[in-house]
Amino acid sequence: MYYNENTTIFLNGQFVKVKDAPVSIYNQTMHYGNGVFEGIRAYDTPDGVRIFKAKEHYERLHYSAEVMHINLQYSVKELELISYKLLELNGLKDAYIRPLVYLGDNMSLTPTDEVHVVIMAWEWGKYLGDKLLRVMLSSFQRPNPKSCFVEAKVVGHYTNSILATTEAKSKGYDEALLTDMNGYVAEGPGANFFIEKDGKLFTAPLGNILAGITRQTVLEIGKELGYEIEEKYFTPDEIFTADSAFFCGTAAEVIGIESVNEYKFPLDWEDSIGAVIQKKYKRRVAHNEYQNVYL
Ligand code: PMP
Repeated sequence: MYYNENTTIFLNGQFVKVKDAPVSIYNQTMHYGNGVFEGIRAYDTPDGVRIFKAKEHYERLHYSAEVMHINLQYSVKELELISYKLLELNGLKDAYIRPLVYLGDNMSLTPTDEVHVVIMAWEWGKYLGDKLLRVMLSSFQRPNPKSCFVEAKVVGHYTNSILATTEAKSKGYDEALLTDMNGYVAEGPGANFFIEKDGKLFTAPLGNILAGITRQTVLEIGKELGYEIEEKYFTPDEIFTADSAFFCGTAAEVIGIESVNEYKFPLDWEDSIGAVIQKKYKRRVAHNEYQNVYL
């Protein structure tokens, strides 16, 4: 699904076939989860293939590496240009790009000097599909920011996401919604969360969530369209009086939510602010309504 025998990846300065990628089984990322990554999308636009907010994604990769004491040798610009080359080599236009910075052999709990950079790309449909989601409030909370850098995309953090997703799916739901360590609504396992109430949007403030690049784009689009949006802490109770809700993330894009637990949102998705933003988001990414910095 992700690759075949012709797939090329970027690995440590070279474009190689994925089957020729050696990975040591003593690498620290595999044992302890210390590695950082990104999830990025490219779109086939009227101006050619364009990676949406490549700079923002690679700046976040740099931030993630820095807080985890990982020395990332490639600049934001280099990573962006390598990504375009990788898409070209694989003949990809609408694609998901996955840079991963993983570490060399180190069985101690100390920083590792040997740093590997790999970038993969493949075609990937919308992560949560197209239909409205049935969501479950998770029994798991997002990691406490005092136990990790919650705004960094660290490999090990995603065990929390896997637990929450698995719990939700095993109970017959499409996706989970997690609270933060104080019990306030935080985010999904791989997407940020918004509710609409009385014509206004609400989302969790930064601090206990991943600072999603799509979340930021939703805030920008919402502002441009003149909607009122408030970033504030709110409890799950407020979801159960909301009119509508949606998730947003690079892989999922903007996707509407039908219900949380058994509470069904009363507003038709098509009449919601989320639906307006979903359409505008699609235009923004697919029509290159956004200036790439290095192109
Ligand atoms: N929250 C979490 C936990 C995520 O993994 C993601 C996906 N990176 C998001 C939110 C959305 O972030 P972005 O819009 O930058 O993809």
